[in-house]
Amino acid sequence: MMEKNKITEPEKVSCEVCFKEIPISEAQSVKATDYIMYYCGLDCYEKWKKQAEKPE
Ligand SMILES: [Zn+2]
Repeated sequence: MMEKNKITEPEKVSCEVCFKEIPISEAQSVKATDYIMYYCGLDCYEKWKKQAEKPE
């Protein structure tokens, strides 16, 4: 196996809300208590935020 032109794939993370895979460089990240959460965009971040704020 010889791969001279190996393309280095960007590291991917999955969105915390919709579980879509996104390159880490494009992800919105929020540092939570113990770990970092990723979102594909502000839409998902807002969704998560609203959920988190609702004490049910
Ligand atoms: Zn998402």
